[in-house]
Amino acid sequence: MVEKAVNGAGYCSYLNGKEDENIAAEVFISQLIQNGADNNLYSFLLNSNHKDCTSSCYDCLRDYYNQKYHNLLNWRLALDLAGLANDERFELNFRQEYWQNFFNGDLRTILKNKDNYTLEEDNGVFYLNSDVRRILIAHPFWSESFIERILQSSGADVDSKYINDIIS
Ligand SMILES: [Zn+2]
Repeated sequence: MVEKAVNGAGYCSYLNGKEDENIAAEVFISQLIQNGADNNLYSFLLNSNHKDCTSSCYDCLRDYYNQKYHNLLNWRLALDLAGLANDERFELNFRQEYWQNFFNGDLRTILKNKDNYTLEEDNGVFYLNSDVRRILIAHPFWSESFIERILQSSGADVDSKYINDIIS
């Protein structure tokens, strides 16, 4: 974290955790985890007023200055990252409440309208099925070797696609 101004106000030094290692967690992470701060950003993102946002919108991650990256921004992935920053044992899969809501709602509609795929869950792993293809839905934080292991146990002729490529 760096301040642009030569004689900055010192916020970056304060927030970088050198003086107090809990500061960054209190300022940033507690906003983004379930049961973190009261009425935090996590609650806002899962609120019914934000239910139509499939990846990012101007109420959450998008603004004029990051428009080059709008297609890459996904608030659910941001919550995954915050969860991991908060706890190294955080599971990076699609079992979190915010992923489950999405998989059981908007994603099914998107898939049906897009390529007439159906969604299948098998032992906590999700696949897209059509008449001719079966595709593993991969999390972008999974390693290639982890994806390869799942593919090997998924049977023949299964491809993988990252969730952000499926919904963009
Ligand atoms: Zn949004």
